[in-house]
Amino acid sequence: MDREAIMRLDEVKKTYIMGEVSVEALKETTFEIFNRELLVILGPSGSGKSTLLNLVGGMDKPTAGKILFQNKDLAQVSDKELTLFRRQEVGFVFQFYNLIADLTAEENIALAAELVNDPLPVDDVLREVGLDDRREHFPAQLSGGEQQRVSIARAIVKKPQFLLCDEPTGALDYETGKIILGLLAEISREGHSSVIIVTHNTAIAAMADRVVRMRSGEIVELIINAEPLPPERIEW
Ligand code: ADP
Repeated sequence: MDREAIMRLDEVKKTYIMGEVSVEALKETTFEIFNRELLVILGPSGSGKSTLLNLVGGMDKPTAGKILFQNKDLAQVSDKELTLFRRQEVGFVFQFYNLIADLTAEENIALAAELVNDPLPVDDVLREVGLDDRREHFPAQLSGGEQQRVSIARAIVKKPQFLLCDEPTGALDYETGKIILGLLAEISREGHSSVIIVTHNTAIAAMADRVVRMRSGEIVELIINAEPLPPERIEW
């Protein structure tokens, strides 16, 4: 595994103020993300997984601390610059795909490609996710697994530094979920992106380079897998 750190969270905190109550969604955290790693974030509901993912993805700014990326502190940049970071460097994959219903698979991907200067060819990406023969289909004409492939293709066509996946198999059956995880593992090994998967599913941990466990807004454990398992060998 290539161990070059591409992002560093330095004493980062996120607190939400709700009237008189404040929620420490993320307690002071220092953490690095490595180039082209497969990182899995585990933890129960409310433990701060999405908060961490949103900070890495520039969807949110921390209450305190630094988020260092390419000599910049994302905690300090303007909203416009943060939007640019998100557009160019981050691909998102969600549980329920979030595709545009009246665009075909190919058009959904092409639209994302237009956001950046140097996208991958849409044809190559369609082939990579195994959807060459479904390009003309609309989302409603595709299975859940196929829709998730389109959403992965839409994310990776931009060649993002970070591919952020929030419960990407949460709506899929067992076998389809495994295939999607296999695809994400392949992208982290061969692609341009660090892949970060947030999930409840502890079985996924065995295929990751590193696993972070969160509880009550804190990273309580960090596991490094010297030899991650191929997804087809994982059972749950
Ligand atoms: P997870 O992704 O592990 O389920 P979250 O990061 O979504 O956890 O949430 C962590 C904590 O922060 C929870 O207590 C949640 O209620 C709170 N929280 C998250 N987002 C907000 C928000 N926008 N406003 C107020 N509280 C929030």
